[in-house]
Formats: sequence, structure tokens, C-alpha cells
Amino acid sequence: MDNMGKCDANYTQLTPLTFIKRAAAVYADRPSIIYQSTRFTWSQTYNRCRRLASSFRSLNIVNNDVVSVLAPNVPAMYEMHFAVPMAGAVLNAINTRLDAKNIATILQHSEAKLFLVDCQMVPLAHEALKILLKELSSPMPLVVVIDDVDSPTGIRFGELEYEQLIRKGNPQFVATEVINEWDPIALNYTSGTTSAPKGVVYSHRGAFLSTMSMLLGWNMGTEPVHMWSLPMFHCNGWTFTWGVAARGGTNVCIRNTTAEEMYNSIALHGVTHMCCAPIVFNILLEAERRKLTSPVQILTGGAPPPAALLEKMERLGFKIVHAYGLTEATGPALVCEWRDQWDVLALEERSKLKARQGVGVLTLEDADVKDMVTMRSVPRDGKTMGEIVLRGSSIMKGYFKDPAATAKAFKGGWFWTGDVGVVHQDGYIEIKDRSKDVIISGGENICSIELENVLYGHPNVVEAAVVAMPHPKWGESPCAFVSVKKGSGASESEILDYCRNNLAGFMMPKKVVFMEELPKTATGKIQKFELRAMAEKFKISDHHQQPQKQQQQQKKNKKKEYPAARKEEQGHHDQILALSRL
Ligand code: ADP
Repeated sequence: MDNMGKCDANYTQLTPLTFIKRAAAVYADRPSIIYQSTRFTWSQTYNRCRRLASSFRSLNIVNNDVVSVLAPNVPAMYEMHFAVPMAGAVLNAINTRLDAKNIATILQHSEAKLFLVDCQMVPLAHEALKILLKELSSPMPLVVVIDDVDSPTGIRFGELEYEQLIRKGNPQFVATEVINEWDPIALNYTSGTTSAPKGVVYSHRGAFLSTMSMLLGWNMGTEPVHMWSLPMFHCNGWTFTWGVAARGGTNVCIRNTTAEEMYNSIALHGVTHMCCAPIVFNILLEAERRKLTSPVQILTGGAPPPAALLEKMERLGFKIVHAYGLTEATGPALVCEWRDQWDVLALEERSKLKARQGVGVLTLEDADVKDMVTMRSVPRDGKTMGEIVLRGSSIMKGYFKDPAATAKAFKGGWFWTGDVGVVHQDGYIEIKDRSKDVIISGGENICSIELENVLYGHPNVVEAAVVAMPHPKWGESPCAFVSVKKGSGASESEILDYCRNNLAGFMMPKKVVFMEELPKTATGKIQKFELRAMAEKFKISDHHQQPQKQQQQQKKNKKKEYPAARKEEQGHHDQILALSRL
């Protein structure tokens, strides 16, 4: 059996480009895109992508060139996920909420040859290009403006216009052959929540396999109606840009994720699926109109969804699947696979189980939690903490132009996520914190996510985040930032009383700060570094500085260990264990 060779009949390169070719053949007349009053079918979308790819080639875009795009979830953004790799190029979808300086840095670092800009983003792109040219002295990419396909604005910017490229392109263009599935398909910059943004490179193979495992992980059947409430620039829409084509589904594109637009789209187009960060739950929950006309499946992740919010959403009729992931893992890496036997549990208990991050997606060879020093797996006891590590075909190729950071991330044959977690007895992983967010108080590790989960249980709390605040005696202590329901009049003492009834004493926040809204990134993560900077200012007087320094040293030593959680937390772990056994 050893001498059987690979040939074109039995071995082809894995690439998501096969999804659109198949969609055009199998689902030709089914709707591919709905955007305001614009409608496309799969045969039209394929045709438009072929034309666009041929235009890119005639603009001298060659294999492995980077094509950057700055656009919200409009049809062009979707089409580029196929057209750019069809031209052999690499798609760089830029976070639309970055400032001009960051965008310029990405254009420079990625060495973008083409830059496509949505009409709404022109002022920001203009600023970025000025910085690129004047401050960074970098060559300018060729600029293409994307006018609104449904209601053209007439805004022009740069040399070319998107629809013109499509009109001029060749509809018979044959996609550039993927010679090697390991070739790059996308370059996504991390949002830099914890460190400077890095350019994460995906291969065709990784993108293909991740898409397949997400379709299975979410049980997405054929003909889903998928609303784009998740920015497509975020890990290529957690691979569903490619995945909706694979399932012959419909992409409902929306410019803004307002409650009105989302509820309207759900009612008008019969949306069946949507992805979003848990922060979008608040938008959906706080809206005046909150009626669901049909059940909607939500895949949530990107930040921890508090059990209390999951419960409220399920009461509204949304069916939620929880996943955990990172840019480096091509989006979701763990999914909280639901067990039928949990259906009999009360909603509150189901929500607690669902708030766990779960088990590795099928593309991963393994997902584990390891002690950072010994690199041994932690016991499955739901309390011993370690770093979440992953390995498998959905992990990035590496960081663009950064071999040192790549080698560090891949130490010992695993991808180290920088997230601290535990493994429950049933094998489900639960994240406890980002390693940089763990609060060390008097030498004890306090996980901010646990405190936030408690705060979200308060009926008037809308958003909550807990960060470290300097403390004269304990080195650090928890400081809670919350936004509360308008008109609820919730006070600090009320919140603290609630915490006292639900938390071990050493975990109690020492201060509660009320904000109208907590600062967030474009991908819906609360910007803890901003809150930390604020908490830093709640400084203690100078004579406390020395003990504080000592405590900080203690913190540095301690952070590497992630010791078992304190006994007081045992109750919670036992509860999860008992529930998961059901
Ligand atoms: P950045 O790291 O720049 O914010 P990512 O989108 O890659 O960009 O963020 C990945 C991080 O988001 C993870 O390392 C983890 O800390 C957090 N995260 C993602 N999904 C979840 C989840 N379901 N629960 C808790 N945290 C999550």
C-alpha cells in the first residue's frame, strides 16, 4: 500500500475557493447576498468575484501581494474574501475602528499594494494615507473607492472605483491555481488588547479546515440566513465569510449593528444565524422592540459571556452556542458543545454550563491547559489553573515578519494563548482570565472574569469589568467599573452588598466606579488597559509606596504559577462538576 502515489484525482489543495465555485454550481439561483434593496444570487456573486479578480490581476496584483480593505459589512467586503485569493493575493481586512495612525502602520507593515476603501471610511483612509506618506515615508498603495452598491453616494477617492473594476473584469476569469495549500490567504492584525498589533497569517489549508470545523461545531445546515452582526474583519468573520458560501446560505449585510437594524433584518429576511461578541447582547436586550419572529441561533465569543446574560438572551428566544478563540487560531478554537442530557436542567444551571468555553474544535489535534513552568497538563479538577494551549491545523502560519514572536508563541509544539484556565472533570475548559488581567491581592490570584460574572448577576448592571487597583497593603485589589440601567439609581453600597453576598471576602472589589458606557474595542472587548490606567490614578499616598513595590515583586513571581483556586471557590467548582455530570 506504500507505493500508491498522490495524483490530481485523489489529492487536491485545500482552499475555501472551492466553496464559491461549488455554490455557483449547486446553489446558482439561491440568494447569496441581501443588502438593503440589493439582491444577488450565488451565480451572480461568483461572476462578480471572477470579474473583480481579473481586474486585480490586470492592476498587476501578483501572487502573495497584499490587498487591504477598510469597509463595514457591505457586499464588497464579502466578495473580496473570494476575489482577492482568486487573484492569488492575500486579503488584509482592517479593523474599521482603528485610528489613522494604526491604519497607516498596518498599510506599511503589510506592504499593501492595493487599498480598497468604503465611501463611509474615506476621511479616515485619507488621514491614514497622509501619515503613510509623510510620517512613515512609505510608498502609497493604489487606492480603490467602494461606493455604496445600493444607494451610490458619488463619493470618489483615489484612482479607481469598485463597481467599475467589476464591470471591466472578465466573467470567464479562472481563479489563480492554489499550488500549495500552505500559501497565505489572509493577513489579520490582532486588535492589540494586550500588546502591539501583530500580523497573523492564515493559509488556504487552515482557512478551509477551520471553516469546516466551525460549520460542524455550530451545526450549520444548508441554506442558513446569516446576518452579519460580527465585523467581517474579525478573523474573517470567524470563517463564516467562507462558510456561508459552503452552505449555500444567504448573507444579510448590514452597515451598522444597531438594535433597529438587527431586529428589522431578523423580521424581514428570516435570519436564522448570527455571530456576535457578548457585548452585543446588551444592545439586543436594551432595545425597545425585542420581539423575535422566529428562532435565531447566535454563536458568541471573543469575550466571556456572563451566565446571567446568556440566561436573559435565551429567555428572549435566542439559541446560543458559546465559542472561544483568538485571531491566531483562525477564530473559534473551543466550542461549548452541548450535551443533550443537560436539557433537563433549569435555565440558570444550563447558562452556567454554557458560560464555560468548552472543548477543542475538530480541526485541532489537541487543546489543553498546561502549567507554564513544568509544561505538564493540569489535573481535570476545575480548579488548578494553567495556560490554555492549542495545536492543530487551524492555528496560524505565524506572525508576519516576526519570527521571534512566532517562535515564542509556538514554544514546545503548542500555541500558547496567554489565557489562564482550568479543565473540568468532563474535559470542558473554562477560561479564568487573560494572564495579564489576573489580579494578585496579598499573593492570592483573583480572576477578574469571576467577579464580572457575579456583577452581571445584579439586576441593574448592564456592563461590568474588573481590573487591578494599587493597594497599600495587598499590592493590588479589585476595582469594578460598571454601567447600570438608566434610572435604576444603583449605588456603590448596593453593588458592594450584592458582591458581599456572592463573593469570598478576599475577592471583594475595593471600589466601584460608575460609567455611562465602558470603553470597548471594535470587536466588542472592554478595553481593560484604559480602565487600568484610570484605576492606577486611584493612588495611595507616598508612604505606602514601598510595601506596594514589594507586593508587585511578589505578584511577578506569583503570576507564573497560577496556583489552585482558594477553598472558598470550591463551592462553585463542585456545582459545575455536579451539573456537568448530569
Ligand atoms: P486581541 O487578543 O487582540 O483582543 P482576539 O480577537 O484574537 O484579539 O482576542 C482573543 C482573546 O479574546 C482570547 O485570548 C481571550 O482572552 C478572549 N476571548 C475570546 N473568546 C472568549 C470567550 N469565549 N470567553 C472568554 N474570553 C474570550
